[in-house]
This record gives sequence, structure tokens and C-alpha cells, in this order.
Amino acid sequence: MKNCPFCAEEILSEAIKCKHCGEFLSKKPAATWYQRPFSIIVAFLCVGPLALPLIWFHPKIS
Ligand SMILES: [Zn+2]
Repeated sequence: MKNCPFCAEEILSEAIKCKHCGEFLSKKPAATWYQRPFSIIVAFLCVGPLALPLIWFHPKIS
């Protein structure tokens, strides 16, 4: 569950349209930091290079 950013009523986190006020939620203005794609990309860039040697030395790939 999450709160609608327009009317603050509780709605399903999968909802694309608020059932209380009828606003569409596709732009997600109230997303927390870990829900933003940018944060996921940054997290991947931080962890990704660490995982590269594991892929590089994988016996089935190399
Ligand atoms: Zn609403």
C-alpha cells in the first residue's frame, strides 16, 4: 500500500489510477529514493564493477 500523492488516501502500490480522486499515478512524484530508476542505476554502477571479475572468471563463460 502507498498513499496517493494527490489526495493522500491509501491506495494499492500497483495502482495506476487513484480510486479516491481519479488522478493517474504513472509519473510517481512521491516515490522514495530507492524506487527511482536513477538510484537503481547508480546502485548498479556501484555494485556492477565488483561483479565483473566474477563473470570474467566464470568457468562456463571463459
Ligand atoms: Zn487520490
